[in-house]
Amino acid sequence: MWFFGRNKLQFSKRENVAIRLEAIGGQGANSAGKIIAEAAILGEHFTGNHFSSFGSEKRGTPVKSYVRFSTVRKPIRTASAIRTPDLLVIFHEFMMESHPEIFEGVGPHTDVLINSKKNPHEFQFPKGVHPRYVASVPATEIAVKTGSGLNTIMLGAIISFIPEITSEHLGQVIQSFFSKLSPEGKAANQIGFEKGLHSFKVKTAKPDQDRLEPSSVTFPHFGYVNAPIGGVITTPGNSVLKNHEASRKGTAPLLNRNECFHCGQCDLVCPDFCFVWRKNPDVGFGAELLGIDYQYCKGCQKCIEVCPVSALSLGKEEEIPQSEKNISWVKNEKSKN
Ligand code: SF4
Ligand code: SF4
Repeated sequence: MWFFGRNKLQFSKRENVAIRLEAIGGQGANSAGKIIAEAAILGEHFTGNHFSSFGSEKRGTPVKSYVRFSTVRKPIRTASAIRTPDLLVIFHEFMMESHPEIFEGVGPHTDVLINSKKNPHEFQFPKGVHPRYVASVPATEIAVKTGSGLNTIMLGAIISFIPEITSEHLGQVIQSFFSKLSPEGKAANQIGFEKGLHSFKVKTAKPDQDRLEPSSVTFPHFGYVNAPIGGVITTPGNSVLKNHEASRKGTAPLLNRNECFHCGQCDLVCPDFCFVWRKNPDVGFGAELLGIDYQYCKGCQKCIEVCPVSALSLGKEEEIPQSEKNISWVKNEKSKN
């Protein structure tokens, strides 16, 4: 049985609670929403529901997970998306810039929890977005150190914002959810959960946080009036701005050019064509490997496994040379070839 205390936040209990989790495919937002809903509905016997909406079935696409429940057990008759959440959880701070519409419906009743190493006062919110409390938890960093799932760490932080659910019931659901994991996996997730519980920072939001452009936020108040046109893919590729960086879980392949002999095997297995080449008759098979386009790399590690000379190794996100994270050099090389 997982035992854990509450963080020192003292929020009063509500009659109706609506939670929206905003994430990238692969970060476990759907499972996290399911765990919260099971603890509320099966554990506390509240009425409620949970569902998620996904982009294409692919890592790197946006995922929204919704949980709503009534502590006074009113029948929940709606299964529509949650427009005005009481708690908004952002699984990667990168989404704040790339997808500002995730702030839809955030108001003075909303707490916002963000996976980030930043302090809460450093965040920039779109104009007109004034949450109640802003909190941050360095979940990616903790996940790399502990081997825990990102969603488990986020759950550790989330629980302090849902006083309606008791620690006992959440602990039971999480324990059952992870029952199929190996002993090491269970231990890692338990540590991750506890770290999430104790590592978040919180502050009251202030109005002076308006810094992003208001035009970048869409609030579809009237549905049929300004809802996006149906049946049309306006952003082909369906990943977040065609950028997979947020899918990496704190680690990435690192290329040691001194070891590489340009055999191309990494390129054959990479699902996202991350490797950048240029013609060079003096090396390998006439093409020279220049580097990795980290914009598209989702950290699957297939290239590391296949490299015959260990020219690729698994490194930490912060070990990626800044010069290579800047994708412009890659684009320039691509356009030359
Ligand atoms: S880890 Fe390697 S194979 Fe996987 S997406 Fe990144 S570059 Fe491609
Ligand atoms: S598989 Fe290894 S040696 Fe071959 S091109 Fe890729 S990094 Fe270089």
